[in-house]
Amino acid sequence: MSLSDLSSADLAALHGELTTAYDTLVGKGLKLDLTRGKPAPAQLDLSNELLSLPGEGEFKAADGTDVRNYGGGQGLPEIREIFAELLNVPVAQLVAGDNASLSIMHDTLVYSLLKGTVDSERPWVQDEITFLCPVPGYDRHFALCEQYGIAMETVELGSDGPDLETVKRRVAEDPSVRGIWIVPTYANPNGAVYTEEVTRELVSMPAAAPDFRIFWDNAYAVHHLTDHENPAVDVLGLATEAGNPNRVFVFASTSKITFAGAGVSFFASSPANVTWYLKHLGKRTIGPDKLNHLRHARYLGSADGVRALMRKHRAIIEPKFEQVETILEERLGSYQVATWTRPEGGYFISLDVPDGCATRVVALAKQAGIAMTGAGAAFPYGRDPRDRNIRIAPTFPSPDDVAAAIEGLCTCVLLAAVEQRTSA
Ligand code: PMP
Repeated sequence: MSLSDLSSADLAALHGELTTAYDTLVGKGLKLDLTRGKPAPAQLDLSNELLSLPGEGEFKAADGTDVRNYGGGQGLPEIREIFAELLNVPVAQLVAGDNASLSIMHDTLVYSLLKGTVDSERPWVQDEITFLCPVPGYDRHFALCEQYGIAMETVELGSDGPDLETVKRRVAEDPSVRGIWIVPTYANPNGAVYTEEVTRELVSMPAAAPDFRIFWDNAYAVHHLTDHENPAVDVLGLATEAGNPNRVFVFASTSKITFAGAGVSFFASSPANVTWYLKHLGKRTIGPDKLNHLRHARYLGSADGVRALMRKHRAIIEPKFEQVETILEERLGSYQVATWTRPEGGYFISLDVPDGCATRVVALAKQAGIAMTGAGAAFPYGRDPRDRNIRIAPTFPSPDDVAAAIEGLCTCVLLAAVEQRTSA
């Protein structure tokens, strides 16, 4: 029965039951961690072959480049060819970098701030700069803005993109709006998948600032959890077609394909933006880790090789997602106290509890030995105005630990919701 239909006597009885259940939970002395979206050891094991590649005496790329030496700023063609297909970008417009796409996002932001983009009249740092932030979103995007004093404006994110009316209005009317953070495929954390239609709107909408940029972070482009494998939209082609070829910066990496923190990152954009990026990058480094490019190219082989590997990842993590959904449904469904996403890919489930309860739920869970990402983490400055959103990252723990953590979390959600009602 829905919590809102319970009489005050029933609520008091339920409060008593939940308090006992919570005390039992605390008594178990659990030590579980659902905080960050990390691959499980079994997922990392899938790519252990990389540890012995390219192998003794192997250091020549297909074009004869000696990968042991400096140079080759755009990265090895063989790894770029594989990911150009997967990301649906022209290989000539794709750069393969070092181990983290977050670093490329950081750098493009800093280059824009200190030097300006190819369409800027002056460096961004000389003006007030605002970024639109679809929420819930990725905390590290917001942390980058905070770090460099960029104002953030939230926009509600639905299952196929942000509130477009607000985005279009703000971008058209305010030249301080220079950027928007987008995770187009299986967004962190709500699993949103941007449709081609939404993408067209974003790349073609009029902008007050000629150097407005979409930070298109396709971190989960190939991370499907169902047979419905959403393909990468041709965002650069659509932007060119719309007359805004320089609007989009595309980012991606193999962090959750091979090894997190020891993979290959990617940047793609218009030819002018790629030249701009490589010019600044050339001051920062004498070349990327091409040895890593080579071992990744040899290991992955082709775009189909990546697709096959991603199906093995799916086999490991899909049951964990199913478990979370089943337990949430069983424990919370009938009370109608929460809603959650059922993502078709990516690494997260986004849980919304009653307004004003998320901080309490996370604190209760912590006390019971279940570490959740802090309430509000998916919002700029860590502030969720409704204090309702909790990000669940089920990939890293074992299936048993995921089940125990979500069972415990459900007790905390119910207790917090009942506490709120009985104290009202
Ligand atoms: N973007 C998003 C949306 C992510 O969720 C993550 C990883 N949590 C990253 C980027 C980080 O990617 P990388 O390891 O390539 O820096």
